[in-house]
Amino acid sequence: MPPLVVCLDLEGVLIPEVWIAFAEKTGIDALRRTTRDEPDYDKLMRGRLEILDEHGFKLSDIDDVIGTMEPLPGAKEFLDELRDRTQLIILSDTFYQFAAPFMRQLGQPTLFCHELLTDETNRVTDYRLRIPDGKRKAVAGLKNIGFRVHAAGDSYNDTTMLKEADRGILFRCPDNVAEEFPQFQRTDAYSELLPALLD
Ligand SMILES: [Mg+2]
Repeated sequence: MPPLVVCLDLEGVLIPEVWIAFAEKTGIDALRRTTRDEPDYDKLMRGRLEILDEHGFKLSDIDDVIGTMEPLPGAKEFLDELRDRTQLIILSDTFYQFAAPFMRQLGQPTLFCHELLTDETNRVTDYRLRIPDGKRKAVAGLKNIGFRVHAAGDSYNDTTMLKEADRGILFRCPDNVAEEFPQFQRTDAYSELLPALLD
């Protein structure tokens, strides 16, 4: 059998949703929308950038909130166990600027994600996708170079990755995603997810 690589989503699987935490801190409800609610990522991001501008928030304001956050309970132990048994790549639609503090707390796993662009005043002007549909393409690329891929995620933006993988698993997903994608095994605890990924 080809060697296994596990691909995991980040937010909602290993760390809390950064935008939701920022929405809570600032009291701006409109920032609570995530890929769980809005399947069109560009629309979601354009909306978020507009809201930041409306309120005059800078990247440093988001960084301040991220500085108070930690990975989900049990995430580090789960990752340590997984990386002890197989190879792991985190495929995320977050940004390197947001993820860095979490990666330090998680033992610096490999992360493929996107980039925020800022101007000289630290205002977030835009975002740069490394490549469109990057999660699915990463899985397809790994298969193309001889790997077997098992993947897990919690949202709409994971479903093309889960379809492309040899095995796709939903983790702590909302009911609407599970109902739309009944072909994927649904898990809720790391103790369930670990054997499903390694099997
Ligand atoms: Mg997610």
